[in-house]
Amino acid sequence: MIKVVKFGGSSVANSTQFAKVKGIVESDPSRKFVVTSACGKESHEDHKITDLLYLCEAHVRYGVSYDDIFNLIEDKYQRIKKDLHLTIDLDKEFAMIRDHIKHGISTDYLVSRGEYLTARCLAEYLGAYFVDASEVIFFRYDGKIDMERSRQKLLEKCTDHARVVIPGFYGVLPNGVIRVMSRGGSDITGSVIANIIDADVYENWTDVSGFMVADPRIIKNPLRIPRITYNELREMSYMGANVLHDDAVFPVRSKNIPINIRNTNEPDNPGTMIMNDCSEMDRLEPPHYVTGITGRKNYTVITLVKSHSSAEVGFLRRILSIFEEYHVSIESVPCTVDTFSVIVQSAFVEHCVYEIMGRLKKEFDPDDLRIEEHMALVAIVGRGMRSVPGMSGRLLSEFGRNAINLKVINQSSDELSIVVGVDNRDFEKAIQCIYDRFIAEERKAV
Ligand code: ASP
Repeated sequence: MIKVVKFGGSSVANSTQFAKVKGIVESDPSRKFVVTSACGKESHEDHKITDLLYLCEAHVRYGVSYDDIFNLIEDKYQRIKKDLHLTIDLDKEFAMIRDHIKHGISTDYLVSRGEYLTARCLAEYLGAYFVDASEVIFFRYDGKIDMERSRQKLLEKCTDHARVVIPGFYGVLPNGVIRVMSRGGSDITGSVIANIIDADVYENWTDVSGFMVADPRIIKNPLRIPRITYNELREMSYMGANVLHDDAVFPVRSKNIPINIRNTNEPDNPGTMIMNDCSEMDRLEPPHYVTGITGRKNYTVITLVKSHSSAEVGFLRRILSIFEEYHVSIESVPCTVDTFSVIVQSAFVEHCVYEIMGRLKKEFDPDDLRIEEHMALVAIVGRGMRSVPGMSGRLLSEFGRNAINLKVINQSSDELSIVVGVDNRDFEKAIQCIYDRFIAEERKAV
């Protein structure tokens, strides 16, 4: 069994967190590949090292003194070194970075130093071998990861070592220049490494115990989702729930490697397991109907009514092409006879909604053209809903009982999710009543 374990910024924010990481890594000999982010915030008022490095770079670029920010960064690592009795020569490391800055430094190189230094400290503390991401994560010039070259180098560099620590978030271009990924990119590094070494599981350690059934800011102490499929996760994240970098899914999914989201501050909690296919485990323990409830406020619905238009071939395409001209991404298009509604995120049409309305009016001369703003969409996601008769019926009656006016309802044909549109004002109430009915009550009944 081989595991890749990735620790996010909050897991390595200070020496106390480092000690928790050590406990986690050493409690399982299969945790052989350790990937780390840069130190995150220790408290609400603190700053992420990566943010400080970006800030430092901006100061350098505009010719403003960066000493204060640089000192904050250096202090953080010196404190970790002192607390953990490390021998790493940080004076030399920081002198080298300062020297690079003096002679013209690239943004990517400077911000990558957060992960580099964190990984150096962590490797020493764990007694593991440090492998620089610049030696094993290779990009092509188009920014995609060169999996073949990365595989070759990673295997070459790591095979002789019982445990390795690799900084996340960066790699090198073919010319050897450091390049960073998008923010949160250490998730991708972990996933790429898990793919290359054919890991049995990719553990992603963060500060939450996996995915919750619903947003804890809306539902008090929501239940944890023990297992979720990649498809369900996609539905959830598309509607707003986000714990993992989107691009971290593909490398592991393509090899059927499960991702386990875990909490460094609560290591005994099994977290959430994300898998391609949960059917084997579902047979032993059938899933609940609803895996998760998510949603987002602030959608706009533009509705066009024109009699006999349903019979006209290409009518809908012509409506949509106007949105395309304005480069507006469309969320959903519920239609009935001669009535076409287009749902979009309000932020996407803020600047052009009245122009779009004008174009629709001019081109279609509709019987009615309406715009409705302030709508929220709520998605009820669950592989357990498939082939269960009456799910939407129960949902509708629940909304009726709670006096929530339903504006839209849409179910995907794979029956993986039901999306409903309600007034922004009813958003929290809608989530609460779905949670009460489909999660709290049903689990009580089991
Ligand atoms: N340190 C980087 C960031 O803050 C990458 C990461 O944490 O994954 O975005």
